[in-house]
Amino acid sequence: MAFLFFFVGLFFGSFFNVVIYRVPRDLSIVRPGSRCPACSTPIAWYGNIPLLSYLFLRGRCEACKAPIALRYPLVELSGGLIFLAGYLYGGLTLSAVDLILLLSTLFIVTWIDFTHMIIPWEVLVPAFLWRVFYNIRQGIIGERILSFLLFFALMWLIAFLGKAFYKKEAMGGGDIYYTAFLAFFIGWKNGIILLLTAALSAALIGYLYAFITRKNVRETMLPFGPFLSLGALIAYFWGDLLLAWYMGLFPPVG
Ligand SMILES: [Zn+2]
Repeated sequence: MAFLFFFVGLFFGSFFNVVIYRVPRDLSIVRPGSRCPACSTPIAWYGNIPLLSYLFLRGRCEACKAPIALRYPLVELSGGLIFLAGYLYGGLTLSAVDLILLLSTLFIVTWIDFTHMIIPWEVLVPAFLWRVFYNIRQGIIGERILSFLLFFALMWLIAFLGKAFYKKEAMGGGDIYYTAFLAFFIGWKNGIILLLTAALSAALIGYLYAFITRKNVRETMLPFGPFLSLGALIAYFWGDLLLAWYMGLFPPVG
């Protein structure tokens, strides 16, 4: 069963490749079928088998021999691993579906934001719709709608103050609705852990990056999406634990 999940995940990974390449370029994810980015020759069915085609074609386009980016087999493999992780975590339950949709979304958003500095809202839709269903089923839809609104307002406020303070766009609209989406997914308590983790790791990497490139830290622009993804991942698995630990640092007054 674990192998079946991995195998199905490879094909979803293949689809992630299409999404990662086409959505930021505003291209349809349905048409045309996959073709070589170098010579536009349509790719035959045997060229579309995840991982195997890459090995079989020795990493080159069959028609023009242009090298196929390593990104393709890597993303396919990631799809397989995400599905495997879902099965190992939840078995044949809805929590497996939940984790697979969360990890897939985090993965795609991180990749696109890292390469294009944007977070297209379209890629959030499948996981969002899933969570509308799942939150209703778990009886937590009211709390999650409030979480969504709260974090939308909070991020908007941070962006507004950031812009007023730094006199430039410190955070994009994508970061605002991505955080709201994540709060809808994991709830407002985990949302706090998410934001703290994202802000801390972004500051750490930002200073490190500025130090290595010898740039002024105020002039370095890093996409915030990957840090939000990291924060969401940590909050999803260890949010309760971190919150308990954090609250323990401040014993109740009185
Ligand atoms: Zn080609």
